[in-house]
Amino acid sequence: MTHTKRSKVKKLLSSSEEKSHVLLKGWVRTRRDSKGGFSFLEINDGSCMKNIQVILNHSDPCFLENDDKLTTGSCVAVEGRLVRSQGSGQAMEVQVEHLRVYGTADREKYPLQKKRHSFEFLREIAHLRPRTNTFGAVMRVRNRLAYSIHRFFQDRGFIYLHTPIITTSDCEGAGEMFQVTTLDLAQPPMNQGKVIYEEDFFGEKTHLTVSGQLEGEVYALAFSEIYTFGPTFRAENSNTSRHLAEFWMVEPEMAFCELDDNMDLAEEFVRFLFRDALEHCAEDLEFFDQRIYKGLIENHRQIVDCTFERVTYTDAIHILDKSNEPFVYNVEWGCNLQSEHERYLSEQYFRKPVIVYNYPEEIKPFYMKINEGGETVRAMDVLLPHLGEIIGGSQREDDYEILGNRMKKKDLKPENYSWYLDLRRYGSAPHSGFGLGFERLVQFVTGMENIRDVIPFPRTPKHAKF
Ligand code: ATP
Ligand code: MN
Repeated sequence: MTHTKRSKVKKLLSSSEEKSHVLLKGWVRTRRDSKGGFSFLEINDGSCMKNIQVILNHSDPCFLENDDKLTTGSCVAVEGRLVRSQGSGQAMEVQVEHLRVYGTADREKYPLQKKRHSFEFLREIAHLRPRTNTFGAVMRVRNRLAYSIHRFFQDRGFIYLHTPIITTSDCEGAGEMFQVTTLDLAQPPMNQGKVIYEEDFFGEKTHLTVSGQLEGEVYALAFSEIYTFGPTFRAENSNTSRHLAEFWMVEPEMAFCELDDNMDLAEEFVRFLFRDALEHCAEDLEFFDQRIYKGLIENHRQIVDCTFERVTYTDAIHILDKSNEPFVYNVEWGCNLQSEHERYLSEQYFRKPVIVYNYPEEIKPFYMKINEGGETVRAMDVLLPHLGEIIGGSQREDDYEILGNRMKKKDLKPENYSWYLDLRRYGSAPHSGFGLGFERLVQFVTGMENIRDVIPFPRTPKHAKF
């Protein structure tokens, strides 16, 4: 083979002119043989949803040498002429002049022979599922969203902060935690029935983080505006389509920012992400709209085009109370909003994204800023029609005394949070932030039903193999 530079399939397909010599490499998705003495291979290299068709002449030596090896799943390098396609399916195709098979895939054994497989089956072969249309599309969208998250914050001067994965704080029990230890589990050092954690690696009990928020606040009160974007862990023993044991979380934290500014940023952020996906993942979203979730694109356009409704928790409770909907969970002031309530608000009542704010103090964590009167805190949740809650956030309590008292009220020991309290002792400032579960976002944008299908290697109860 000559020293032609490899072109990606996406580039070849969008080429406006024919080319006498191109090189492409990728995996054979399908093969079709015609009676007229030609074989047609559909090649995909992950650069886009579409395959490129390459045509082999049965009298060509490169076909005769490789005929047996050209099966679904095999990996090939192809050199030839890029020409306008005679067929209707695509704009460009390649007439093969040279061909090399890098790796074969046994016709009898390669698991991805059929056109369509269930997502459950594909989860069993997490090492091969990236070679399917759906996973190609999911992962390209996921990649674009990660990029646009960074762009959104970087364009606004936020500092990207790497918060620790191993931690001793528990973010007031945001979720069940995984313990980190090097002690011998069969024979841990014990004293009067208790493990001596002084002998553990860090000299105290440590866990995998459930949130980077508290550490984020430290840096927001020095850099003004920061964001985290990293792995988070919850030992949730709930096998739902919305929970993973290991997931990625985005958490901006802003000094000099009160609840209204926080809601403004969250709204701008959500609209930015959906607009960017519509613009840059059009082909993949088209696929999801057709195959996974009808009306997806229209739904996204509405999110991008409208102003989000803002309603206090108290008003939301009134609306729900007056609705006469047969809710499974009763509505009364002080209760947590269930997803049926959230859906009613965004899908039926307001028919657009809704931000609910000022929640009862009782049902929210200690760090949220208390409103006058003491009954509610400055929390906010962003709810999307058909999708549900995408963001939760709050203004943080910045008063040293009030924060200490709220900790005690919630049975937390202030001495365990001395560094967090110090932030309120030295140069405290109003500040706010929110959290967005990255996989939930990918789920919303793609319409994928199960969160296990929007992360490369899902970690769930009894499942961490690959
Ligand atoms: P949920 O009620 O859905 O369990 P949560 O109230 O525990 O969520 P937070 O503690 O507010 O969630 O976490 C912030 C965000 O992280 C959530 O809005 C959600 O998008 C995401 N998230 C929480 N738990 C998980 C999980 N187990 N897997 C994937 N994403 C999660
Ligand atoms: Mn949870």
